[in-house]
Amino acid sequence: MPEVNAFVSALSQALDDSALMTGDRIPARSRSDASLSGRHLPIALVRPTSVEQVSATLRICNDHRVPVVTQGGMTGLAGGANAIEGSLVLSLERMSGVEEIDTAAGTMTLKAGTVLETAQKAAEDAGFLLPIDLGSRGSCQIGGNIATNAGGIRVIRHGVTRDNILGLEAVLADGTVISSLNRLRKNNTGYDLKQLFIGSEGTLGVITRAVIRLQPLPVGKATALVALPNYENAVQLLAKAQAGLVGLSAFEIMWQSYFGFASQGEGLKLFERSHPFAVIVEQSGTPDSAALENFLAMMFEEGLIEDALIAQSEKEARQFWAVREGAAYDRLPHLINFDVSISVGRLGEFADACEAAIREGYPDAHVAFFGHMGDSNLHIAVAVGASDPATLHAVDGIVYGIVRDFHGSISAEHGIGALKRDFLHYSRSPEELALMRAIKQTLDPRGILNPGKLLPPA
Ligand SMILES: Cc1cc2nc3c(=O)[nH]c(=O)nc-3n(C[C@H](O)[C@H](O)[C@H](O)COP(=O)(O)OP(=O)(O)OC[C@H]3O[C@@H](n4cnc5c(N)ncnc54)[C@H](O)[C@@H]3O)c2cc1C
Repeated sequence: MPEVNAFVSALSQALDDSALMTGDRIPARSRSDASLSGRHLPIALVRPTSVEQVSATLRICNDHRVPVVTQGGMTGLAGGANAIEGSLVLSLERMSGVEEIDTAAGTMTLKAGTVLETAQKAAEDAGFLLPIDLGSRGSCQIGGNIATNAGGIRVIRHGVTRDNILGLEAVLADGTVISSLNRLRKNNTGYDLKQLFIGSEGTLGVITRAVIRLQPLPVGKATALVALPNYENAVQLLAKAQAGLVGLSAFEIMWQSYFGFASQGEGLKLFERSHPFAVIVEQSGTPDSAALENFLAMMFEEGLIEDALIAQSEKEARQFWAVREGAAYDRLPHLINFDVSISVGRLGEFADACEAAIREGYPDAHVAFFGHMGDSNLHIAVAVGASDPATLHAVDGIVYGIVRDFHGSISAEHGIGALKRDFLHYSRSPEELALMRAIKQTLDPRGILNPGKLLPPA
């Protein structure tokens, strides 16, 4: 207790009252991200307004060896932002705002606590597209997107978050500020330090600012919902769309198990009859849907597709996307979500093997597949009637075991956090894990930054 008192007293000397909360003032939501798996309240919550306050806080935590969990918008699905026992939580919510848009260079400099949607709107007002986009856009923060290297629905066109970041500023465990706010597209001056922090899930530093590369704002969009008889045809359709459709901006696949359940949830019957697969194909930067219509007519003649609906209005396009977003799944009890990557040619085979393995242990399970096929990214929605830790671990073991057999990745876009940590070695070699630990040791020798997340114990 005296140690905690000395720690809190050092914090209160460095920070004003509005930046520091302890005891009963700490809100319950500080416990957990959107995975709802966090159980502990921190001993202190710090809400800095400047990089100097972040630096001072980290220096004090490092001196007192108190663990620090950085929290962004708390929309993470891997338990990465969950508070841990005896930790200080550093919330970036008050470090928000776009600092500059350079219209000549097409870059945006902003604070890490800026909500993604706010940054997207600022880019749009200046005539640009901010190419990072995900369903949690109204709450997630740019700093969280960078720390998780978030994906989303436009990756097929613009890449993952990593591909859109030019520079960033981060604070190390000992309080050192690394200002690497590069704005140049070409800059070959040694190690690309920003890459250390992108995807590091708060384990190597606290991201405080970033420079994002913007894209020209596309005008016009065409969207289609396509029905297919098998996965092989979907692979061929993807290859032909990538080659023949200028501005392909989404290629999202749904197995019938998912499409049927999610359409019913929306009260929609989009096709006359049921088809094994449905794909949303979206083309951006097109004045009308003529090119997409011609392309799909050709695919129909070649026998690749069974049916296609071209959205005639924004409302119809939104219906296709509503099915893909699958709100019905939010109401399914004991839902377990997976986010894996498998080489695109083998996704169909993987799904069959995965479903068979789950049904061996849980014959009545709900198992449904959907995802960003253009990025080899499959989401799996599983409900086996329970979600206690033992059941979760058993189902994780089944799914990740098959991912390992297919040489895939146990996390395509949500990150490792606390929930997938014990399976990291299914996707990373002992040599890779040793190098990750060596980097962690160099940047955070006392191990105060988000301990127990991402990296399993040695
Ligand atoms: C409805 C919904 C849809 C989603 N769709 C997608 C999707 O399509 N693609 C996708 O990739 N993810 C998706 N997600 C997951 C989530 O939104 C992303 O992982 C997002 O990038 C997390 O951002 P956040 O600000 O909420 O971070 P948090 O959840 O607060 O934190 C996530 C991790 O980043 C660390 N962190 C946060 N901020 C910082 C910082 N400034 N410096 C250092 N570390 C930091 C935390 O410690 C933690 O480890 C979705 C989630 C929901 C709820």
